[in-house]
Amino acid sequence: MSENYHILITGANRGLGLEFAKQYAQDGWQVIACCRAPQHATALQALAKSHSNIQVFALDVADFAQIDALAQQLKNSKIDVLINNAGIYPDSSTDLVNTDDWLDAFTVNSISPYKIANAFKPHIAKSNLKKIATLTSKMGSIDDNSSGGSYIYRSSKAAANMVMKSLSIDLQPLGISVVTLHPGWVQTDMGGDNALINAKTSVTGMRRVIDHLNLATTGRFIAYDGQPIPW
Ligand code: NDP
Repeated sequence: MSENYHILITGANRGLGLEFAKQYAQDGWQVIACCRAPQHATALQALAKSHSNIQVFALDVADFAQIDALAQQLKNSKIDVLINNAGIYPDSSTDLVNTDDWLDAFTVNSISPYKIANAFKPHIAKSNLKKIATLTSKMGSIDDNSSGGSYIYRSSKAAANMVMKSLSIDLQPLGISVVTLHPGWVQTDMGGDNALINAKTSVTGMRRVIDHLNLATTGRFIAYDGQPIPW
């Protein structure tokens, strides 16, 4: 059954994206694994070598023309689940905010998930499951912000939260459901070695949340352990 399902993952070459690719491939899904530099994606290429159900595609999510070109290239494919995973965390504190970094973060973290969801809307609408999951962060929660700082990351993820909320409403007539995910604090290049959980635990949990996603639960902000996060 699951071999009939197709999933597209951005930033699938390392961290949580690579773990998503691994777990869905092991469960027999057809995995469209996107990364910006396939020629340097050693771990993903090795995974694809041992799993014939993984196909690797070049996609820099900041390159909107490349997003449209890939959507066109895959126009005959259906996509049951789209995972907007790619993200960046530029350093920023009160006195040290680089505005070019800020614009880059908005491009990658906020605008590109919208652009990808829109470009692949036809592929998702014709699939069986019709789901979009976007990794934002509890750091994008306005309610949860008790420590300040991280201006760039926090604001770009808060914007992504609002984008996904609107999409959850606008895509409902097409039968597409949308969830905004907080993966936990995870041991990856971004999360660092002191993070609380590993990628396997985080992705196993997020997959459970995605499994339970439907039109009745669309438009929520949920952590990897199923707990709702305040906006
Ligand atoms: P990593 O830094 O380990 O990996 C980031 C991934 O995003 C890499 O595959 C990277 O590709 C990709 N990426 C960045 N920019 C682009 C781009 N322009 N085009 C294509 N791919 C790009 O992060 P994680 O795996 O930890 O994070 C995954 C997601 O989870 C992110 O959205 C992050 O914000 C979110 N998150 C992570 C947390 C954590 O504790 N780890 C906590 C909360 C949220 P490349 O190798 O080419 O740079």
